[in-house]
Amino acid sequence: MKTQVAIIGAGPAGLFLAHLLKRHGIESVVLEARSREYVEARVRAGVLESGTIDTLNNLGLGERMMREGLVDNGLDMRFRGRTIHLDLPGLTGRSVKIYGQQEVVKDLIGARLAEGDPLIFEAEVVRIEGADTASPRVHYRHQGEARTLDCTFVAGCDGFHGVSRAAVPEGVITTYTRNYDFAWLGVLVKAPPLPDMTYTNHDRGFALCSRRSMSISRLYLQVHASDRPENWSDAQIWDELHTRVFDADRTEIKEGEIFQRDMAQLRAFIASPMQYGNLFLAGDAVHIVPPTGAKGMNMAVADARVLARGMAAYFSNGSRAALDRYSEECGLRVWKTIRYSAYMTGLLHRFSEHSEFDRGMQLTELEFISQSEAAQRTIAEQYVKLSDVAD
Ligand SMILES: Cc1cc2nc3c(=O)[nH]c(=O)nc-3n(C[C@H](O)[C@H](O)[C@H](O)COP(=O)(O)OP(=O)(O)OC[C@H]3O[C@@H](n4cnc5c(N)ncnc54)[C@H](O)[C@@H]3O)c2cc1C
Repeated sequence: MKTQVAIIGAGPAGLFLAHLLKRHGIESVVLEARSREYVEARVRAGVLESGTIDTLNNLGLGERMMREGLVDNGLDMRFRGRTIHLDLPGLTGRSVKIYGQQEVVKDLIGARLAEGDPLIFEAEVVRIEGADTASPRVHYRHQGEARTLDCTFVAGCDGFHGVSRAAVPEGVITTYTRNYDFAWLGVLVKAPPLPDMTYTNHDRGFALCSRRSMSISRLYLQVHASDRPENWSDAQIWDELHTRVFDADRTEIKEGEIFQRDMAQLRAFIASPMQYGNLFLAGDAVHIVPPTGAKGMNMAVADARVLARGMAAYFSNGSRAALDRYSEECGLRVWKTIRYSAYMTGLLHRFSEHSEFDRGMQLTELEFISQSEAAQRTIAEQYVKLSDVAD
């Protein structure tokens, strides 16, 4: 099989890229290791920045998001029993939308298949050959058989554990990593959510009350990295959430059936450069942010937009200039996003290595933010528009 762009991975990065390329008349084949059912059911991010919303709308695929997604105008941060309310439109002129990543993925997959464009599930890429040549070849396994896909460019959109980054020879890429010794225990609950996204910094640890719809809450607790979802009974989860959110009389957080649990490890990771020859890395394949900033999916979409623009220029006029600048163009935005995500993580979590002095500094920072509109605007601006890129 032969195509212009071989896209490895049908997560947000790969699927957005495929649709953006098609808009420019560029053919691609998407190879996804997992089944369609698995990919569409994978619960992950849920906060869409305006750049992501606009991209989906401009592709003509935002109808369900606009209908079912919830506009989020506020971001609350609690500490010492008090709430700092960030009025997002008031501070920035913008808001964000709550619409689950799995819903975005469903919309993109549905449209791709409806248009009859190639997206092959259960096609696991095992090797990329000739990434630094004019005719790379992607080797994959499908229905028990070894197959190949020849292409002009390979887009490695296969997440942190994919094969693309590993295909770059040693010494070309430098990695920068911070692993946290805590994780998020996440639950989906059949109960009405709090009206605003609510982060809390409590002596017992961080908690987050988010939402997926007016009847589904998405709730998180900071736990140790070695903890497991099955270690927690439902009653323990509720006790801990009420306590950490300063909901002493247990009236604010509505309890309901917990119908899904998962754990997300917290890690910050950047690999640079994001390209090698004709292989381009995008999304989690090349950077991971701790989820506190709600940026992972938005970053992946922003990468796809920059990459699609570079490939469009190449296929329309033969110029590689934009493609050669891909990594450089993404770099500062990626570092800024990681900086913001690490800052929010540092502001809101309990750290085992913190002294009483460190804890005092952290709470004083929150006191300062509560009294300074400028500090609130700084956080709000980064929350709503760090992933802006030009098309
Ligand atoms: C458990 C979890 C919870 C998260 N929660 C949040 C959150 O609350 N907020 C937030 O902003 N972000 C969150 N994130 C991050 C966010 O979901 C990611 O940043 C986003 O999925 C990145 O999209 P992507 O397309 O780059 O990668 P992915 O979505 O990981 O997609 C990569 C795809 O490549 C496929 N693949 C891998 N290897 C191969 C191969 N060899 N061959 C073919 N296909 C392959 C995978 O199956 C996958 O479908 C979370 C991530 C995880 C893991």
